[in-house]
Amino acid sequence: MNQLVKQWVRPEIQALQAYPVPDARGFIKLDAMENPYGWDDALRQQWTDCIRDVAFNRYPDPEAKALQLALRKAMAIPENMPVMLGNGSDEIIQIIAMALSGADRVIMAPEPGFVMYKMIADFVGMKFHGVSLSEDFSLNMPAMLAAIQSQQPAVIFLAYPNNPTGNLFARADVEQIIKAAPGLVVVDEAYHAFADDSFMGDLGKYPNLVVMRTVSKMGLAGLRLGLLAGPADWLNEFNKIRLPYNINVLTQLSGEFALQHQQVFDAQTAAIRTERVRLLDAMCAVPGLQVFPSQANFVLFRTPEGAANTVFESLKQDKILIKNLGKQSGLLRDCLRVTVGTPEENDLFLASLTKTVSALV
Ligand SMILES: *Cc1c(COP(=O)(O)O)cnc(C)c1O
Repeated sequence: MNQLVKQWVRPEIQALQAYPVPDARGFIKLDAMENPYGWDDALRQQWTDCIRDVAFNRYPDPEAKALQLALRKAMAIPENMPVMLGNGSDEIIQIIAMALSGADRVIMAPEPGFVMYKMIADFVGMKFHGVSLSEDFSLNMPAMLAAIQSQQPAVIFLAYPNNPTGNLFARADVEQIIKAAPGLVVVDEAYHAFADDSFMGDLGKYPNLVVMRTVSKMGLAGLRLGLLAGPADWLNEFNKIRLPYNINVLTQLSGEFALQHQQVFDAQTAAIRTERVRLLDAMCAVPGLQVFPSQANFVLFRTPEGAANTVFESLKQDKILIKNLGKQSGLLRDCLRVTVGTPEENDLFLASLTKTVSALV
């Protein structure tokens, strides 16, 4: 390696691997929790009309005011709570971390959890403290409370529902963590569209609670748009770090347009929820699989011992791409994660899965 790179790039960055994104061309893509449905021609035509006259030569509205208003309405954000937008919620995690960073400062999150919390802790030079979930993926409250005491985390991230496990933590547990935390608690509701509960309505009850959402999983992953809602004192500080034009003009217009057609996304997420039930039931009927309940648009399952790679590769042979988590030991041993697709995609997945697993057991 170039000596200068070795000398100057922070060692913790040199030790990192860039976030891996597999090439999915030609595959049925069930690996990234994307909504599988597109837009019909009429909607596409309306959208192109809407962006036709966009002023590419001008900077976008730095506050994206019109889009903020549309999101407030669509996501039932309490009126007295300000909102900050991010280029995906990943950017919001980074903004929060930058605002709270310090060599001795800790980011805490349950594990297994969303990988960006740890990656971003590394980016900004914070410590990451993961607390293992219980075997059934519920929060291990004695361990969480002890870690809060000993680590005094600057921020705790709780994905609600959790990724990659798919479950909603018990509301009472989350409330207890918010009360016990010495710093900020971010409830990350990336999968809110598929879940039966939310902390959005709890904003204002606690001085240290903020709620994060994204439009990615409901069908707009390509736009890169996330939001943070919470008390003004926190958001005013975070807003200072946000790059002024972080939401580009196409995202602003397209996001606003999409939210004017909220019923399209509501119908799509309803279809995904229906398919989730069917997929879960069908997977439960495959002998040898342990299937975990889901409040999200994906299903986590455990293969027979040592078979996760075989099942993953066999699905890949059939041109179906899911997520292999089974290389890890511990709670995710032998586990794979599949995103809920269209009925046709799910049928192909189920056929390939059943074929492979029945050959194993
Ligand atoms: C997908 C995901 C995100 C990131 O969403 P973007 O808005 O696409 O950056 C955040 N949190 C969790 C738990 C996720 O699964």
